[in-house]
Amino acid sequence: MSASILIIYTGGTIGMKQDPVDGALKPFDFSQIAGEVPELSKFGVRMDSYTFDPLIDSSDVEPSMWVKLGEIIREKYDLYDGFVVLHGTDTMAYSASALSFMLKDLEKPVVFTGSQLPIGVPRTDGKENLISAVEIASAKGADSHPMVPEVTIFFDAKLLRGNRATKYSAEAFNAFASPDLPPLAEAGINIRYNTDIIRRPSVWGKPLKVQTKLDTRVSILKVHPGMTPQVMRSVLCGPETRAVIVETYGSGNALSKPWFLDIIREAGEMGKILVNVTQCKSGTVNMDLYATGRTLKLSGLVSGYDITTEAALGKLFSLMGKSDDNSWVKTMLEKNLCGEITQ
Ligand code: ASP
Repeated sequence: MSASILIIYTGGTIGMKQDPVDGALKPFDFSQIAGEVPELSKFGVRMDSYTFDPLIDSSDVEPSMWVKLGEIIREKYDLYDGFVVLHGTDTMAYSASALSFMLKDLEKPVVFTGSQLPIGVPRTDGKENLISAVEIASAKGADSHPMVPEVTIFFDAKLLRGNRATKYSAEAFNAFASPDLPPLAEAGINIRYNTDIIRRPSVWGKPLKVQTKLDTRVSILKVHPGMTPQVMRSVLCGPETRAVIVETYGSGNALSKPWFLDIIREAGEMGKILVNVTQCKSGTVNMDLYATGRTLKLSGLVSGYDITTEAALGKLFSLMGKSDDNSWVKTMLEKNLCGEITQ
């Protein structure tokens, strides 16, 4: 029996065309995308589509859209072998990260893809990305279970774990990187799967659970030279903030100035959850390496290890949506929940 795939089209460059009046790129409907890729019909895969209304530039993505995506996947879960999500590249890593935490006991592929050039233009990267994403979403292993039952991003011949990916080029076709985890698959003449690192359940057949309650009271503070106590206090200690991702230098270091540490402690005493995530593109937080890191640890910062900021945000939204207990959230933050950190 041939595989069946649901393509969920949310918007993004892949499905945009130039407005003849103002020249700006605006989304067009799915039938036009499908019409641009006749190769899809040669696949022997049954494909249906679901189109978001309105279609969005992914810069407008909201957690409510992740909930909607999760609900569509839950509703259609038994009807399809896999899901391909067409999404703008700007926030694709945020959406894929968030979904990886929201889809519990996922046993089917959810492959995000998009493109740097609209699908209708001659040099588009959208066709390759879409065709390979469909192939991966329908691929089965020798055990007849899906080859990659994870939330992933397929882009420029590489399949990346969604919660390890980050957009790193605004221009290259090779727009995404996963600096701390090799690709789960690479597409050449054949698609080569890196089976050692693909996460597959030990026992199959659990029902999918979708988390729909997210707590978004998170801020991000990028530590930088010249930061003032006033700005830092307003980010860390604001009444609407429950957690802060503190983007630090190198292996998790920051200022050793007393005012800086005082504000960290003050936020800690207010019960805020503070996560240490490195500004470096690769490598991990290790707060035991330098004295400044050690002081941060003693002041209550939780290590994000090698998590990306995108994944830290999704992880916090999900954990905080599950519990009001900040100390439980802190404990869970340091655990590897769905392949987002190396431990
Ligand atoms: N601004 C677009 C979006 O993220 C860019 C893209 O799709 O590549 O929706």
